[in-house]
Amino acid sequence: MNEPVIKFKNVSKIYDNGTLGLKNINLEVNSGEFIAVVGLSGAGKSTLLRSINQLQTISEGDVLIDGESIVKARGKKLRTIRRSIGMIFQNFNLVKQSSVLRNVLSGRIGYYSTLRSILGLFSSTDKRKAIEALKRVNLAEKVYTRADELSGGQQQRVAIARTLIQDPKIILADEPIASLDPMTTKLVLDDLKKINDELKITIMINLHSKELARKYASRIIGLRSGELIYDKKIEDVTESQLDEIYNGNILQKEITNE
Ligand code: ADP
Repeated sequence: MNEPVIKFKNVSKIYDNGTLGLKNINLEVNSGEFIAVVGLSGAGKSTLLRSINQLQTISEGDVLIDGESIVKARGKKLRTIRRSIGMIFQNFNLVKQSSVLRNVLSGRIGYYSTLRSILGLFSSTDKRKAIEALKRVNLAEKVYTRADELSGGQQQRVAIARTLIQDPKIILADEPIASLDPMTTKLVLDDLKKINDELKITIMINLHSKELARKYASRIIGLRSGELIYDKKIEDVTESQLDEIYNGNILQKEITNE
């Protein structure tokens, strides 16, 4: 059996103000999985995703990426692990007044010295890579368009292309479709699914709709009050369980029982 691409070992997170973010999470994610993370607001989904690339530090335990601790890594090692993890966000996080090409190229910064990245001296190989990535999300014709001239869905696909040129093993998607309409949502999720299938990049995503989870995810994990309380392959999840997850019953049941 191969090493899991992501492994949580007894991970807890308590924020500075004492709020519990995560409670003793143990989780293994294998390469190529497409994981939907579900839970009520405040359940810890975002904290879980952000602890994978250490955008959020953890209080206890360890997070291993391909067998190596990202929590203990420093300097070059940390940079190397981090660039293997792409992330997309609800608000896209693009530089709005820059071109699509520049935005995508910025995904490559983890491979450059600080000076070179400040000067924006990207190699022609990387420019070709950026255009390849844009082709994958069907935006090759927008290379020189300013990011803020694109629709929300197009901006999110530029953000996906930006992660792709990192050559990531993992893409984390924190509420990536929360501000998109259903049509655009489909385009963005189709792109992520294609990337998952063709490039075998592992995807972890917050998904708020059971239809979308059924259609795109290979596994569903559920969080409640910072604890992992549900973990099943999609083919083992019955319709009624999926209903219960998404109407919140499973995710809040034991709050009242405990
Ligand atoms: P979700 O993504 O499921 O909505 P979060 O991971 O954002 O949940 O939050 C989990 C818990 O941690 C919530 O109680 C939230 O209020 C709290 N939390 C999140 N970020 C912070 C922070 N920076 N400081 C203090 N508490 C936080």
